Amino acid sequence: MLQDLAFGRLENEYRPVPPKDEDAVLCFRDNALLVKRFPNGNLALPTVSRVRGELQYAFRLHGVSYYLAPNAAGEGEWIPVRQLRYEADNTFCYAAMTGWHLYKWYESSRFCGRCGEKTVHDEKERMVKCPNCGNLIFPRINPAIIVGVTDGDRILLTKYAGRGYTHYALVAGFTEIGETVEQTVSREVMEEVGLKVKNIRFYKSQPWGIDGGLLLGFFCDLDGSDAITLDENELSVAQWHERNSLPIDDDGYSLTREMIRIFGQGKEPR
Ligand SMILES: [Zn+2]
Repeated sequence: MLQDLAFGRLENEYRPVPPKDEDAVLCFRDNALLVKRFPNGNLALPTVSRVRGELQYAFRLHGVSYYLAPNAAGEGEWIPVRQLRYEADNTFCYAAMTGWHLYKWYESSRFCGRCGEKTVHDEKERMVKCPNCGNLIFPRINPAIIVGVTDGDRILLTKYAGRGYTHYALVAGFTEIGETVEQTVSREVMEEVGLKVKNIRFYKSQPWGIDGGLLLGFFCDLDGSDAITLDENELSVAQWHERNSLPIDDDGYSLTREMIRIFGQGKEPR
């Protein structure tokens, strides 16, 4: 998956150090990232020496310091963040998506939501605070579930309605306030495909910075009728597929694809 190469090597503690010329800069504008493209198609991030503007320390990954550069300017190509997965390797994507998550949080935390005063960054940890009313604002991570609904040797695959991503996926959705993630699984499956489920078991999680989320992957068993009632606002397709003829491969990137592969190999948690 996306984070596996980098997992354990991301240093996300807030330990700002002055930027050095060779450090990497994540420069976002609208929904795009500034990159340098080499003749062979490989992408690289601009370094500190190549970017003009204020820098905000983000994290270290594989020993490299990354900075955010809101409102900065530099030479290069702007690539939509959602396009990166098709053009860059996992380490690059992981850095970009994690930086994007932070960037969006900083962007929406510039003012206190309680009193409207301009916030300031805490000196010791990743937090902004309000000098007027004392409100403390921590990075926001939205939990979401993704679930492989299984019935013996069949798994339910879906396609989203009205989205750019047109491949098969699994039922998914964000956790609501006051809900356990297991309840999210049951509710989302009922809402999207009208099925009851049981024996919900956790598989793995994946940080998914593009939506500011943390994806929690589950498998569960069908409970009762297998007749699908599709929520056409959310999905264009929901079908049962046999374990030995799944129509989609693991891309080495997403939890969704890994879960489908694991089911195809009969290795899902029972
Ligand atoms: Zn305030």
